Amino acid sequence: MGDTIRAILIPPLVLGLLGLILGILIYLVAKYFAVQEDTRLDDIEKMLPRANCGACGFAGCRDLARAMLEGKINATACKPIKPSDRDALNKYLDEMVKASAQPASSAK
Ligand code: SF4
Repeated sequence: MGDTIRAILIPPLVLGLLGLILGILIYLVAKYFAVQEDTRLDDIEKMLPRANCGACGFAGCRDLARAMLEGKINATACKPIKPSDRDALNKYLDEMVKASAQPASSAK
């Protein structure tokens, strides 16, 4: 009788404990190895159509947004974007460049 109860209780307890330990390990790894992305990348991506069509020559809208953030390309690369959205995005990119250039110019 005791062996039967042990055979029934021990596997779920071991698996539950293992799940708890691995869950804590995943939480700690996610917390300490998290990569902080530039929030401007999300801002730029939200201004794109997010069709992920690849017409810009990039794998998707996020890749184009990353290239824009790095200053390699502007919003004209996106083919299906509305002209008003393109203008707003180019304005955002111009302001971003000006903002990043300000500390260097104020240091003179
Ligand atoms: S062309 Fe525009 S909509 Fe298509 S993947 Fe590139 S950024 Fe996205």
